[in-house]
Order: sequence, then C-alpha cells, then structure tokens
Amino acid sequence: MVPIKRIVILGGGFGGVFTARFLDRLLRPGEAAVSLVNRENYFVFQPLLPEVISGSIGLVDTVSPIRRLCPRAQLYMRDVERIDLERRVVTLAPSFRPRALELEYDCLVIAAGTITDFSGMPGAAEHAIPFRTLGDALRLRNRVLHALEEAATETDQDFRRRLLTFVVGGGGFSGVEVIAELNDFVRAAARHYPTIRTQEIRCVLVHSGERILPEITPGLAEYAQRLLARRGVTLKLKDRITAATADSAVLKNGESIPTRTLVSTVPAGPVPLLQAFDCPKEKGRLLVDSCLRLQGREGEVWALGDCAAIRMANGEPAPPTAQHATREALAVAENVVAALRGAPQKPFAFAGLGKLGSLGHHSAVAEIFGLRFSGFPAWVLWRTIYLMKLPGLDRKFRVALDWMTSLLFPAELVQLRVQASDSIASEHFEAGQFVFQQGDVGDRMFVVRRGEVEVLRDGARLALLGPGEYFGEMALLSTLPRNATVRATKSTDVLAIAKGDFTKLLATFPEFGAGLAGLAEQRSRQE
Ligand SMILES: Cc1cc2nc3c(=O)[nH]c(=O)nc-3n(C[C@H](O)[C@H](O)[C@H](O)COP(=O)(O)OP(=O)(O)OC[C@H]3O[C@@H](n4cnc5c(N)ncnc54)[C@H](O)[C@@H]3O)c2cc1C
Repeated sequence: MVPIKRIVILGGGFGGVFTARFLDRLLRPGEAAVSLVNRENYFVFQPLLPEVISGSIGLVDTVSPIRRLCPRAQLYMRDVERIDLERRVVTLAPSFRPRALELEYDCLVIAAGTITDFSGMPGAAEHAIPFRTLGDALRLRNRVLHALEEAATETDQDFRRRLLTFVVGGGGFSGVEVIAELNDFVRAAARHYPTIRTQEIRCVLVHSGERILPEITPGLAEYAQRLLARRGVTLKLKDRITAATADSAVLKNGESIPTRTLVSTVPAGPVPLLQAFDCPKEKGRLLVDSCLRLQGREGEVWALGDCAAIRMANGEPAPPTAQHATREALAVAENVVAALRGAPQKPFAFAGLGKLGSLGHHSAVAEIFGLRFSGFPAWVLWRTIYLMKLPGLDRKFRVALDWMTSLLFPAELVQLRVQASDSIASEHFEAGQFVFQQGDVGDRMFVVRRGEVEVLRDGARLALLGPGEYFGEMALLSTLPRNATVRATKSTDVLAIAKGDFTKLLATFPEFGAGLAGLAEQRSRQE
C-alpha cells in the first residue's frame, strides 16, 4: 500500500486556516493527511479586532475555533520551534509534557504571519502594546479603562494629562482603525466619569509619511485625516516613535509625549521562527516563485500570507492583507494537490478587489473595483463585506447581534482583569512525584524552597538537594535534553524559573551566569 502523504501547515491565521479549508475541498478521501500547527486553538479575524477595544464586539466573537473551521485537519496547539528542510521535519515546542514533538512532512505550507518589530525602538518591547492578537486587544482595552479609572481620582494635573493621553504609532489601516476606535471609545466612556472633561482627553496618531493611509488614493486619505481631526485626534505626520518609557512616547523630532498608553502597529518584522530560518528572503520575508513555492524547495515547501515576499501578476509586491492571504491560500492548496498528483502547478494571479478601512462612528473609506466611497455608505459597505467574510454562521450571527446591541446601549466599561501567568511560579510536589525526567526538554530551572529532591541518572542517585539548592540549570545553559531525573523524596515546594526569564537574568547579570556555569562544571566533575 502507498503510504499516505503528509501535509503540514504552519500558522492558523488567514493563510493557514484557508489553505486547510481549501485542501479539505480539493483532496480525495485518503489522498493525504493534513496537520495544522498554531500557537492558539483559534483563528483571529483581525479586521474586526479594533472593535474589541470599545467592546462593540464581544471578546471571543472576533475569533473562531480552528477545530470547527477545519474539522478534518489534525490541530496541534503548540509553538513551532524549528523547521529542518533537509530531514523534512518540523519541531514543536513542549507543552504540558516537557517533550518536543517532531512532525514529518511531504508537503510543508508556511503561513506564520509577522510580528510588530520593536528592535529599533528602545523601551517599546517593555512599554508599547502591539496590536495583532486577541490578547493585545484585551490588554489595550484594560489599559485604557485602568487609565480612565485612575484619572477620575487623580489630582496631580501633570499625571492626569499623562493618563488621559493615548498614542498610536503607524498610520496604515490597522493604526488608523485602532486610533479611530480608541478615540470614540474613550470619549464615549468619559461621559460616565463625572470628574473627567472630554477636553482633557488627547488621542495622538503618529505616522512617518506625509499623509495617513498610503494604501488608498490621496483624496480618500485626506478625507480620513479631516474626519479624524474633527473628532479630536491629533495627527503627527512625517515623524515616528523612536523610543518608549513607562511615562512617554519619544518621537524622532525629539518631542516626548507624556502618556501611559502607547500602541504601536509598525513596523512589521519576521516571527522569531523565521528570523532563524535559513532560506532565501526579501526584507525578512520568505522568497517564493510565482507558484508560491519556496525558492530552492519547489514541490515540497510553499509560503504565503504576510510572511512571504509574493509578486502579483503586474510585478508589484502583494500587500500584507487578509484579502490577499485568502486568495494565496487557494493557489497554494491547488498547487499542493497538483504536486501530489504530479500535475503542473499554476502561478498566483490576483490583483485585489479593493480596500476598506473603518474610521469609527459610522464612517469608513472604501475603494472597490475602482469606485470610491466615504462616510456612512462606506461604513455600511465595510460592515456588510466583513460580516460576509467572517467564517462560521454562528460568528456572523453573534457579531451582527453585537453591532445591533451597541447601537442601543452605551459602551461597556467592565475591565476584565486577567491574572498574568507568572513565569516565576511556585510549584508543589508530593513524595515520589517527578519534577522532570531524563530526556525531557529543559524549559525551567528550579530552586528548592521546602522539602527535598533526589537527582537520578539511569536509576542511580547522584545527589540529594534541600532548601536553597537549585537544579535544572544545565539543560538551560546548553540545548541538550535533561541528563538526569529529579524526583521529590518528601512533600516539596520549589520555585520554577521559566527559560525566558532565566535567559534575561543571564544576559543582565553576568555573575549569575558565571556562578551557574561554575556549579554546572563542579556537578559534572562529581558525576
Ligand atoms: C488590526 C489589524 C487590522 C487589519 N485589518 C485588515 C483589513 O481590514 N483588511 C485586510 O485585508 N487585512 C487586514 N489586516 C491584515 C490581515 O489581518 C493580515 O494580512 C492577515 O492576517 C495575514 O494572514 P497570515 O496568515 O499571513 O498571518 P496571521 O493571520 O497573522 O496568522 C499567523 C498565525 O501563525 C501563528 N504563528 C506564528 N508563529 C508561530 C509559531 N512559531 N508557532 C505556532 N504558531 C505560530 C500565529 O499565532 C498566527 O495565528 C489587519 C491586520 C491587523 C493587525
């Protein structure tokens, strides 16, 4: 019997999910097995994400479970750590079990999207909020409500101004939609805070170009600028954010805007997985040919969506939009199936149908099939088109209901406090329980707080460790798996330090690293 072909899709956004959906239609039963790997178990409909800020769309109504969208694909809810093109294997990060997982493929589809790259902006990683995921939208909404609550009782005028200033960097579609929604929400919400005057609120959009929305014609962009200015948004053009602190956004012209809420939607950069991925690239994006095949790996690997450098039929670069990612997904699915059947692959040919951007408060701009719309008609068009595009009948229904409800009732002011998961956490083990086992991936280091653990290698005891002593650092200092098993001998409490924090400590305190390296050497001599 011929072994079934394995198709692995990396990324569960527009590119990945739609590729899986199209493959579902095109593949014959038993022709191939499709696996999809994504960090979350849901798909985010990003065009509607800005509406989460105001709560005019329910938090989970902008997302859909991937299992329901792609019922026949095997979903792996994990981080992809590595792609090995030679062995045709992708390695997934450990999850509950501290074991990495390897997926072999015959055909690989890469649709990992991009991240907001804060590398050239000191302080931005710590103090600016990106705007791409559901978590980002929730974080921003919570920050805005927190700032309003604080400002309502703050008597220091300078600090009050800081709390009531909201800054967004990036004047493309996502930045404009975020500032429009934020501005509307803050001004509407302020009515419920008797001590806050709307004149105290300042919403600022910083954009490096001469006009916002470079994607659309100058006339429509100027209309958007005038509208935003009329609604109280301050536009700072031909400038950009160069640094961020807890208290301010620093601009290229030297100005420092006092604020406690800074959002940055630019610049886009490659996801960490693809930064380290050795293959031909253009400005960090994976170089593909006209059939969306990765250069040098034709017939095996395809890339699409925001992470790929794609040329359209007219030679122009394909813009990073959901509209294009969805069409590219169809082209990739058809080409993967053609490759499996030994048929010729077809070039991607799509020039775009139009552009739509919401400006909040029942207005938008739209260019569709060369026709231009603005204001209320464009807003109706925007809502109708996105409602039609939103996958899943239940989500369409919920969003339509959310929109109707928000026309009738005031803005939602509840701040959903989600406890941040501690990356330095306390853990408890009963006697006989394993902390980790030989061969596991090293994801944390531990300090014994109370009780006792034994260190075992191949069944033989190497050491007993008690309060104040630490273990698990060796696998973090190297990339090798755990070389010993650690088991509690009594009821034991430990402090677990996650790999990310461990790495930060190493980079910040050379003494910490030197101390650990010394101990690791001493331990390996004793063994
Ligand atoms: C606020 C906002 C508004 C937008 N509005 C519009 C609009 O109105 N119209 C439009 O056409 N486009 C819009 N876009 C752009 C559009 O959403 C993107 O172009 C589209 O999402 C790209 O699809 P993608 O599949 O390439 O990436 P994404 O949709 O970003 O999906 C990438 C997926 O890969 C996953 N991933 C990444 N790395 C890993 C890893 N190592 N392991 C596991 N999973 C990983 C991510 O979690 C994510 O789920 C908007 C974008 C934003 C942020």
